[in-house]
Amino acid sequence: MSRDRSAVHSSIGYRLAQRVGLMLVIVVGLVTGWSVVHRGPNETSRELLPELQIRRANQTPLPATRADFDVRVVLTHDAVRELNVEIDGPCDIYLSGQREKFNRLPRGTVKMTTTRTEFKLGDQTYRASQIELVPVRSPGFWVNDHQYRGRLRLIRRPDQTFLAVNVLPLEEYLASVVDSEMPKAFPPAARQAQAVVARTFALYQIQQRRSDLFDVYASVQSQKYLGFQYRDGQRRLAGESEESRQIVEQTRGMVCLDRGRLFRTYYSAVCGGSTTSGREVFPDTPTWLTGVSCNWCSAADRYRWSAEFERKDFFQRTASLLESNRANTGIADRRVSNIESIPLKQLGLIPTFFLTNQGKRAVVSGIDLRNQLGTSKLYSPKFSIEPTSTQIHLRGSGHGHGVGLCQWGARGQALEKKSCVEILRYYYPRADIVVLDPGR
Ligand SMILES: [Zn+2]
Repeated sequence: MSRDRSAVHSSIGYRLAQRVGLMLVIVVGLVTGWSVVHRGPNETSRELLPELQIRRANQTPLPATRADFDVRVVLTHDAVRELNVEIDGPCDIYLSGQREKFNRLPRGTVKMTTTRTEFKLGDQTYRASQIELVPVRSPGFWVNDHQYRGRLRLIRRPDQTFLAVNVLPLEEYLASVVDSEMPKAFPPAARQAQAVVARTFALYQIQQRRSDLFDVYASVQSQKYLGFQYRDGQRRLAGESEESRQIVEQTRGMVCLDRGRLFRTYYSAVCGGSTTSGREVFPDTPTWLTGVSCNWCSAADRYRWSAEFERKDFFQRTASLLESNRANTGIADRRVSNIESIPLKQLGLIPTFFLTNQGKRAVVSGIDLRNQLGTSKLYSPKFSIEPTSTQIHLRGSGHGHGVGLCQWGARGQALEKKSCVEILRYYYPRADIVVLDPGR
């Protein structure tokens, strides 16, 4: 049934996009600044989406030396007081507001700190609010055992801390995100779909400019980004591969649009049988992003999971939910602690429960309980509860929030010969999948 619905939406999407395709591209290009620096789609991305070829007249390839569209990835989740950066070869230093190179650092490990007015790199000081390290050869520097392509921007803050931000071309960033987010063993169509949602997610973040300092985190808070390579003990592991670079190239410029606009294309590892309605978890998803059934992810380990708690421990750990819950009815028997399921009315909803404890009674959601009991023990907010006299058993499905593309489901669909575009249209049924062709 859901498949039929998806087919209807996608045919509407086709017609709409064909009619206003060029307009969409111009609007998105203007808003994102894409037209300034990004090259057009390549042959393969047009093959993937032949019906939506969008080309601008007089397009000429950008010179090889021209910078691609950049994304700013913060590498230090919280601002730091000190950072050791390993530089693999000569590295030019630019100070904020200056076009000319200020200095050149040789290869080696450099300890970086700040004062109220300046940066200190090794024994050199730089009076600037931001400095940028530009390796002569990329990838050219290491931060916290990860080697990155592109440039390293240090941004000083008033409290004598600073942020380290990796600035690099979007498509180079995506080559690492594809391998960081999805196993190499997954079929190409699933990884192409991953590249498209990752590109859309990043471009949306860039467009929003919620922060003047960076666009995305390097972690699952945005998208996992391991860089070019990284060390794990004595081992060196690849953060990207020839194959992931090809996947990004094959989908170059391809994004999902909601009525002509980029949107935050949330995705998760395993939906566990049906995806979650976007608004159940995130306030900024399109209203049409409702749950769709998906059993293609049934090969995943966490398609089903279970967790057990001692009864006393469970009610102790969830007691604080009753204090903060606005739906608290406050009329329960003090002697009784209990939890019971509230039946779900439709696909895609997060389960809710009546929690009774310490004389209070409240409605709590699977998200509340997952946050309280630990996201590493409860793999998703979707579970049923079976209380016994001594224990609380949880029977769960899926891994992650379950909104949007199901990564293991994309794998299953790709194994059934579904294309990248078919996969995307299944999980984002009313999205238009287009190739941005920004021209120059
Ligand atoms: Zn799934």
